[in-house]
Amino acid sequence: MDLALENVERFALNEAIDQAADGIVITDAGGNITFVNPAFTSMTGYSITEAVGNSPRVLNSGRQPADFYKELWSTIRSGKIWQGRLVNRRKDGSFFNEEMRIAPVRDSHGSISSFIAIKRDITDQIRAKSALEESESRFCRLFESSGAVMLLIDPSSKSIVKANHAAHTYYGYGNGWLSGQPLSLINNDHETETAFVIPGFSVDECQFVSFVHRLASGEKRDVEVYSAPVEVQQKLLAFHIVHDVTERKRAQEGLRRSEQRYRIAFQTSLDAITICHLYNGCYVDVNNAFVQIMGFGREEVIGTSSLELGVWVDYRDRLSLIEIVKAQTNCRDVEVQFKRKNGEVFWAVVAASIVELDGVPCLLMVLRDISNAKVAEREIQRLAFFDALTDLPNRRMLLDLLSKPRSSSTRKWRSRALLFVDIDNFKTLNDTLGHHIGDLLLQKIAARLKGCFREADTVAHQGGDVFVVLLEDLSENPDDARAQAKVVADKLVVTVGQPYHLGSQECRITASIGVTVFGSDLENAQDALQQADIAMHQAKATGRNCVQFFVPELQTAVNARASLEKDLRSAIIEEQFLLYYQPQLDRGVLIGAEALLRWNHPSRGLVAPNEFIPLAEETGIILPLGKWVLETACRLVASWAHHDNTSEFTIAVNISARQFQQPDFVEQVQATMKSTGANPKNLKLELTESMLVNNVDDVIRRMTDLKRLGLRFSVDDFGTGYSSLSYLKRLPLDQLKIDRSFVRDILKDVGSGAIAQSIISLSKAMGFSVIAEGVETEEQRKFLAQLGCHSFQGFLFRGPLPLEEFQSLLHAPGGRIRSSPGHKGSRAGWKPPLQKKARWAAAGRAPVN
Ligand code: C2E
Ligand code: CA
Ligand code: CA
Repeated sequence: MDLALENVERFALNEAIDQAADGIVITDAGGNITFVNPAFTSMTGYSITEAVGNSPRVLNSGRQPADFYKELWSTIRSGKIWQGRLVNRRKDGSFFNEEMRIAPVRDSHGSISSFIAIKRDITDQIRAKSALEESESRFCRLFESSGAVMLLIDPSSKSIVKANHAAHTYYGYGNGWLSGQPLSLINNDHETETAFVIPGFSVDECQFVSFVHRLASGEKRDVEVYSAPVEVQQKLLAFHIVHDVTERKRAQEGLRRSEQRYRIAFQTSLDAITICHLYNGCYVDVNNAFVQIMGFGREEVIGTSSLELGVWVDYRDRLSLIEIVKAQTNCRDVEVQFKRKNGEVFWAVVAASIVELDGVPCLLMVLRDISNAKVAEREIQRLAFFDALTDLPNRRMLLDLLSKPRSSSTRKWRSRALLFVDIDNFKTLNDTLGHHIGDLLLQKIAARLKGCFREADTVAHQGGDVFVVLLEDLSENPDDARAQAKVVADKLVVTVGQPYHLGSQECRITASIGVTVFGSDLENAQDALQQADIAMHQAKATGRNCVQFFVPELQTAVNARASLEKDLRSAIIEEQFLLYYQPQLDRGVLIGAEALLRWNHPSRGLVAPNEFIPLAEETGIILPLGKWVLETACRLVASWAHHDNTSEFTIAVNISARQFQQPDFVEQVQATMKSTGANPKNLKLELTESMLVNNVDDVIRRMTDLKRLGLRFSVDDFGTGYSSLSYLKRLPLDQLKIDRSFVRDILKDVGSGAIAQSIISLSKAMGFSVIAEGVETEEQRKFLAQLGCHSFQGFLFRGPLPLEEFQSLLHAPGGRIRSSPGHKGSRAGWKPPLQKKARWAAAGRAPVN
């Protein structure tokens, strides 16, 4: 070999040895170090001088197994290469791992002359490996023992590499069963199967994905999978932690649905719903109805406060609403006024409560526009409290006002007055001019009255032709108050009395006014009304067109009347009425009787008809009462019909005007005849003149109908009314009855005698019979007889008798009843049934026992 070239090679070799990363040690055949390179010194800490001549045993750590070096030596002495790992110690005492390869070197004779060892420090490598092993085993332990469902997935084959115990339990398979199974076994959704593994799946990315998994039972579950890439044995796998979220999802779904439902309800509600912050009133949300009702756009509302928008007519309403809500947690049916965007004010009914929204207290308010309802309510109120014809407050409203005095507390002692204004003869006007004129007149009067009073006073239309005025705030001094009321009432008389133009005609009317003045002590509003009413009737009684004040004496009379009326109503039911019979004679022979009503009052004894007939007529009680009289009389004549001496008797029955005017009077009489079996010819109906003058045609028709049945008529109290020959001629009459007032004065007063005479002549001329009533003396009888009247009724013969006494007269020979002996008023047999002094004793007509 060329020397120069040899030198180059040697240099290169030396250089490679010096620069080598591995340590190089050369020993002689005896094992002493003859050479080390720099890598050795840096690996072991021994310098070249320290190492050369030394034994490699200086590095012995004592950590090798017992026969380690023996075996090493025998290997290399036998000429073979040894390779292995061992733990050595550095000069500083620290241990290090090394991988060593020792090769024997032979000389030219073939004997081993030296050994070359190449060492590599693998401490770091070993450490790293063991750490990895450690972590892998930890992972395995965790994987297996974890309660969480864990899977190792191979994305490429879409199969399960490994599943932990919890996973097997969760999916419902036996332990180990899942390993190697395709992913589709548990993944319900094949679409997402790909998504499950691939998208977003990269080495350094973790992700959460939602899936539907299927259990062994077939049940589907919602899961959320945490997926992370892991490298296992150089293979990229996906590590999954499966989290069952089925319940959470269901709960969320439920919540979502209920939220949706609320949302729908919120938006579709016809009522406006708002949510605003409690502290500043800023709107958080409002529904469509709110937008519609208020006229604001949603955008301008949200974030703005109700104060800024000016929706409250009175902002204090909001504050008081909040007060209520705070105290009671919610409130309902509060009526509040709101203002729309266009400024229109309306009434709403509000419900409110406090709700928390994201931890902030809010006011939830539902409001319903009730303006229409309010209008309806006002209309109802108007209809209920105002009179349709005159538009004045009606009686109800008046009572309402009366019951709550208007005066403020400081003025509570002030007096008030009630004026009853009754239009005189309104009925006549109504009947003659027609109802529409009547109504027109009432409207005109109402308008006039309205103009007469102060704001505080009330003019009401009580109904019909009665107006009521309530005067407020009169003087606390009763006399002064009366004077004030008098001035007003007098003014009213004048005002009402002014002429009225009704259509084409002018008319004048007057009013009767009753006044009562009262203080705040008046307990019952009805009392005031009644007092004014009584006073008004007094005004009517004293000639109309005047003012009368109520005085307590009037009340006494009214009270007496009221109690009489009450008694009268029960008297029919209690059968307290009875009939007396007063004989009627013709030329001394008994021909019948007039039935006269008596009331056997439980405490007052026998009451005369004059005391109760007028009230019975006024109250209508006369109708059932008159019916009873007629029936009783009919039963009597029916029972008499079978006896010779009575079969021709006539009973005269008094018929009151109201009774006669009943539309079905004729039918009633006919039915009574039928039910009692009475013969109509034995009955005579006594009508008074006044009943015959109105509606003459109707009267004639009725009388003719009754006459056709066989009944007869007598005109009672003839001569006291407006007898007019013209109508008398047209009436189907049978008899005139000379009133007892003429008979009484017949001998004293020429006029009475003349009247009696003309009545008698008239009857003869018209073909009527005539009877005189109230004949008390023989002189009277004689006088009348001379004039040509031979039928009589009066105390001269007998007064009205109870039935038994009357019947006892029937046994008189030839039916002749002798005049009672003695002077006038001898009324044999008359005895009040209760032995009580009868009322009419005072009138000089009572029997003398
Ligand atoms: P009237 O129809 O004029 O009845 C005659 C009245 O004169 C009776 O009074 C009778 O008792 C009384 N009287 C009879 N003779 C004499 C006499 O010689 N001298 C005097 N001074 N009076 C005599 P009474 O029974 O008190 O009846 C009063 C009035 O009550 C009746 O007057 C009649 O208008 C009415 N009345 C009586 N009963 C009924 C009835 O059933 N129905 C109706 N609607 N009215 C009746
Ligand atoms: Ca009579
Ligand atoms: Ca009479």
